[in-house]
Amino acid sequence: MIIPDQIVRSSRRSLSLTILKNGEVVVKAPLKMRDGDIEKFVLSKQRWLQNKLNAISNNLTRFDDIISYKRILLNGNKFDIVLMPVKKVSFSNNVIAFPDRIEPEKRIKFLKNWLKKFANSVLEPRIEMLAKEYGLKFNDFKITDTKGRWGSCNSKKLICINFRVAMLPQDIIDYVLTHELCHLIEMNHSREFWNNVLGYYPKAKSARIALKDYGFLLDLYR
Ligand SMILES: [Zn+2]
Repeated sequence: MIIPDQIVRSSRRSLSLTILKNGEVVVKAPLKMRDGDIEKFVLSKQRWLQNKLNAISNNLTRFDDIISYKRILLNGNKFDIVLMPVKKVSFSNNVIAFPDRIEPEKRIKFLKNWLKKFANSVLEPRIEMLAKEYGLKFNDFKITDTKGRWGSCNSKKLICINFRVAMLPQDIIDYVLTHELCHLIEMNHSREFWNNVLGYYPKAKSARIALKDYGFLLDLYR
């Protein structure tokens, strides 16, 4: 039996079961609910839990090399990181040449800075192209390093995109960019908003589901 890692009690009315990105199982329960009832609930969700946990562990294995910074993900493709006597990071075929003069403890920070510039160089022209295609207009675009989110759009029509978006496959990148562009019309996630997203980008539904597999990226390069 899979047992919860955490039981959080609060003044809520119902039970909920969530699995965190790292595979931790969390149950949220009302303050006075009996332990036996919580246990029964968890027991009834065993098959669902097992499937979810398997999927998470498969996914983490699939991206093990990315999580350990042995390889880097760009546009959904994996690149080997090879230390070389180069001045700047450069990439060709499936290899990223990384300056060997950078001390090991500074390598992740260095890569992160390079990734931010890379993200800007690929995502800015892309969002401009999509905006033009959709007939939408934003005022400003910025690459950010926000915790826990891929992007945002505010009432001043400033669109911010997390630099990690550049690591995603193109279909998913386009979904994230379309999503934020649609906030220029609707500043919420109403039915109207989702209709717009799907209208402009019919692949949004599958891309949105696929994006969930890449949630681990938001915790990298921190
Ligand atoms: Zn949104």
